[in-house]
Amino acid sequence: RERAMVERRQRLLGPAYRLFYEHPVHLVRGDGAWLFDADGKRFLDCYNNVASLGHAHPRVVEAIARQAARINTHTRYLHDTVLDYAEALLATLPPALGHVMFTCTGSEANDLALRIARAHTGGEGIVVTSLAYHGVTASLAELSPSLGEGVPLGRHVATVSPPDAYRGGPDMPARFAADITRAFAGLARHGIRPCALLVDTMFTSDGVFPDPAGFLAEAAAAARAAGALFIADEVQPGFGRTGRMWGFERHGAEPDIVTMGKPMGNGHPLAGLAIRPELLERFGSRARYFNTFGGNPVSAAAGLAVLDVLRDEALPANAARVGAHLLAGLGALAARHAILGDIRGAGLSIGAELVRDRATKEPATAETARTVNALREGGVLISASGPAANILKIRPPLCLSTEQADLFLDTLDQALAAG
Ligand code: PMP
Repeated sequence: RERAMVERRQRLLGPAYRLFYEHPVHLVRGDGAWLFDADGKRFLDCYNNVASLGHAHPRVVEAIARQAARINTHTRYLHDTVLDYAEALLATLPPALGHVMFTCTGSEANDLALRIARAHTGGEGIVVTSLAYHGVTASLAELSPSLGEGVPLGRHVATVSPPDAYRGGPDMPARFAADITRAFAGLARHGIRPCALLVDTMFTSDGVFPDPAGFLAEAAAAARAAGALFIADEVQPGFGRTGRMWGFERHGAEPDIVTMGKPMGNGHPLAGLAIRPELLERFGSRARYFNTFGGNPVSAAAGLAVLDVLRDEALPANAARVGAHLLAGLGALAARHAILGDIRGAGLSIGAELVRDRATKEPATAETARTVNALREGGVLISASGPAANILKIRPPLCLSTEQADLFLDTLDQALAAG
């Protein structure tokens, strides 16, 4: 049955989409941190950084249903839900960020942020990290090196190494700002003026690099000194995942633009950006922005419910607490499994790097793939990342309980013991 479905998918959707796992999972239902496949098998979701409140959260389901049953309009009519939502969202952000704009995907949010940054700075030069992913549109694919050599970077794009203290040495995060200064200077030598530093504040696709808190503030200062804006891509870290509402808060960094998406609607397509109002003046006076579905009443109702649940269930605090428990548990596992070379994370965004040899740090790429498959057999869904695909990316819903965290640790223990 599974094979027939894969064939049908390929016939209908074509060859460009990749499925997760060699034997893909056919999910039919979710509840909290649990997912269920078509045979009724239960999985702990440690992969999906979208349904951050938990799958099918009843308050989000109810908010969507209630608004959909009333009206869902084109966004060029007046509607108050989007205003209530904008107000509630801005209240979670630094006061300097006074406007929000809504889109449907994180890609559109980053694309819009870059258009605005270009209009404001008059420059084109963008600095990203060497394994960044920022989106799927043509303008973002050319600055997303994680897409591989088949998708060349634009001339206006320069990359810097991520703040990887494990492989680059302990002073790597401190060197990050100087690298950014050098990257903008390199672009300038080619006549390319600065536009923006665009980084995921948890460096998720680079391999999860959160520490030490604070280095991102220096990076932002370096970008501004070069004449560029600092755009914080919060599509992965935002909405409580790191134990704080926003990833940049851990660093005391104040972005010029914050882009967001993924967990924003807990699975409903909703994304957007927040920005300092003065940065929008040039863009707003020259261009009009129109997004048919961005900020529609149903999306806004979903977004509002997400903010309510994050607050009422104190999910950022739960992410901090259960995340610390997971980090400690992974540390204990590392004492018994030499393959666990490095453990790092903040809240429920955790990276566990697998190596063949702790001295040489040779990436355990094949072993990581085996571990991902063994975890799936043991009922845990998870992905791997990094330049050698040897970093387990642990991103469960923020409602994860301590017992579920222990189940993850036990399953990982068994998977690693099995080799
Ligand atoms: N930025 C980051 C950091 C992301 O991880 C992603 C999606 N993986 C995006 C942007 C793009 O978001 P979307 O897929 O919603 O367009």
